[in-house]
Amino acid sequence: MAICSTMPAVLLIVSASRSGSTILCNLLGQTTGAFGLGELHNLWDARALDNRMCSCGELVLNCPVWRPILEACYGSAEPSYLRPIFAEIQRHRDACTRVRHMLPLLHHLSPALRAHRRAYVSALESIYATIGTVTGCSVVVDASKLPAYASVLLDSDRLDVRIIFLIRDARATAFSWRRRKSTTVRGRVFTTAQYGLTSSAKEWLVTNWAAGRLARALPPERWLQIRYEDLMRRPDPILRRIAQFAGLPEDGLPLVSPDQAYLTTAHLIAGNQNRFQTGLISLRPDEEWRLAMRAMDRRWVTWLTWPLLRRYGYL
Ligand SMILES: [Zn+2]
Repeated sequence: MAICSTMPAVLLIVSASRSGSTILCNLLGQTTGAFGLGELHNLWDARALDNRMCSCGELVLNCPVWRPILEACYGSAEPSYLRPIFAEIQRHRDACTRVRHMLPLLHHLSPALRAHRRAYVSALESIYATIGTVTGCSVVVDASKLPAYASVLLDSDRLDVRIIFLIRDARATAFSWRRRKSTTVRGRVFTTAQYGLTSSAKEWLVTNWAAGRLARALPPERWLQIRYEDLMRRPDPILRRIAQFAGLPEDGLPLVSPDQAYLTTAHLIAGNQNRFQTGLISLRPDEEWRLAMRAMDRRWVTWLTWPLLRRYGYL
């Protein structure tokens, strides 16, 4: 099937949590011709519908960008109208995007799993197409992160999907999971969730293993592997490389110097608290863990994750 003329390309960021996907989504989403939406995968949580806040500071249902998208895609942005539609999409999502759904080879999927994947990808195609029409973008930047989500998107013959596989040192992500941070936006307090070392190492291992499995089946023009540390140490050349990969103009990146960017108000519907950040930002790696992480914690995470740490050049 030919790609529909209003269908934007999808630039999907796949990564373990706390790897820098939100800031990367925001930077790329503010490039000329792109629209950064945060984590689309989380939009369908029907119970969160009324309270979900966009990074512009409005509720998603009142956001000047998302409300027209939802009205154009579904006919209304009223919560009572959307809730059953989202609940149905959520049902398909939850039935096909757990890590265990990555285990069978694609040609061994059960009929039920295939049906859920078809229904979910069809819902995603609809909203991507609507985003393209409403915002006029040619590339949607989606930081949904999950390899299983990527696998579903790659089923589509209507979508041009390109994947950035973003890797970060497991010791840094484990340290980040233990930090408690709060941000207040319009009187609402957002506090980061916390994970133990073993749980975060497990999430890191499973996500990166599944992403690696996915990568083996993809041609190089659809898959780009980037390390967070390289991105933040040399943002200018790495972002230019990503822009080339995504078909975005290199001179449209929001960089104002080789290591500084200027962020305007964005419309990311989910992700880390730094999605609310605007203005001039310095791009440099957050490496507090190197000084502040206890040696025994560092050794434990290294021991749990060393095969992949070595593969990615961290050991
Ligand atoms: Zn918004």
